[in-house]
Amino acid sequence: MLETAQTAIREAAERLGYDQKTIQSVLEAEAEHIFAIEVNGKRYPAFRVQHNSRRGPYKGGIRFHPHVNIEEVRALATLMSFKTAAVGLPLGGGKGGVAVDPRELSKADVEMLARRYARHLSPYIGSGKDIPAPDVNTNAEIIDWMTDEYEKTIGATDPGAFTGKSMDKGGSEGREAATGRGGVIALVELLKRQNLLDKPLTIAMQGFGNVGYFFAKVLQDYPNLKLIAVSNSKHTWVQSDGIDVTRAVHVPSGTPRPEALHDLQLVTPQPSGLITSLKADILVLAALEDAVTEHNYDSVKAGIIVELANGPVSAAAERFLQQRGVIILPDVVANAGGVIVSYLEWLQNKDKVHWPEAEVNQKLEKILIDASGDMMDRAAERKLSLKQAAFEIALERLMKN
Ligand code: NAD
Repeated sequence: MLETAQTAIREAAERLGYDQKTIQSVLEAEAEHIFAIEVNGKRYPAFRVQHNSRRGPYKGGIRFHPHVNIEEVRALATLMSFKTAAVGLPLGGGKGGVAVDPRELSKADVEMLARRYARHLSPYIGSGKDIPAPDVNTNAEIIDWMTDEYEKTIGATDPGAFTGKSMDKGGSEGREAATGRGGVIALVELLKRQNLLDKPLTIAMQGFGNVGYFFAKVLQDYPNLKLIAVSNSKHTWVQSDGIDVTRAVHVPSGTPRPEALHDLQLVTPQPSGLITSLKADILVLAALEDAVTEHNYDSVKAGIIVELANGPVSAAAERFLQQRGVIILPDVVANAGGVIVSYLEWLQNKDKVHWPEAEVNQKLEKILIDASGDMMDRAAERKLSLKQAAFEIALERLMKN
């Protein structure tokens, strides 16, 4: 993922005529915090990478996952700097994580881990310095613990130091659905440009977690865009008549769970890997990085790919697919809805206000429509892919500050 992001940045910088020293300066992180957190006698490697703050405080999530390592955190921090710049937010890029499987810890131990993480980083974060948020396996409850510990450590209140908080602790309406909603907004803008918005189109989607579920839900506002397949890490479910996502929710827990479709005997599960090669007009990648690489790119049949995960199409796959005329809606714009609503939460905290969901969604829409328009204009003017255009715009904005 780091290589894919750095390739896109290097190529954009070379096209724009920046020298090697400048290119190097934008690839390197401004600061890296690498430490260990001890919980019940076990030490967990912990990281916070502060990549770039030329446009404002560092911004990016914290993940708790056994695979977290410095390379991954660096890659995600780099992508955050380009994402915030590509959509024009006055924020920089950062990312954090702890190499831990939180499912193996008691709730009390997860809380201790979260509090110690925040305490260690308290001199380096804050609403004007670095604003962490939830990511994989972290949620509003964990962020509330971190905010509380951070405020205790600094001896002052600063709710804007974290975003993704629970609603009664200063969280924003609309945050949960924001990334999926943003994906639909960006896709709709692309289809308008391609004169495809009123055509009947089929969609296959990899990943049915928070992002995938809300993407599918908001997509229901466009009845001609028909979701015909969804997958998770185990299975693919295909339903050519269209999938009613409200039925793909496990009712007792309320979590998106495509197995519910099977339980309802609506569709039969097939292998997970099938999804990327299905015949559909649009392939939405909402699971993991490197979902389409040199190992499977030649089986992709969709004409449009939406990158809702970070870095789901490798650099090699992107080159191959572009030559075949496939349009890739890049992650830095397609999945920016989450960071945009995080930014709106930060603004609300600063002004001590709480906007209704409709107002948040309206502001999200405006920011993403503008960013999508800028990207598509640049791509058309300079005959670039959408990803190349988005990275050029982001790089120019980063260099201006
Ligand atoms: P999630 O954990 O809620 O859901 C992930 C989904 O992907 C699950 O359905 C899981 O079963 C599926 N999955 C995992 N491995 C898979 C595989 N090999 N094949 C098919 N499906 C697989 O995560 P999420 O919050 O929905 O995030 C999805 C992606 O979007 C992640 O890459 C995340 O970094 C990125 N992202 C999330 C946000 C956000 O606001 N949540 C914002 C920007 C980017």
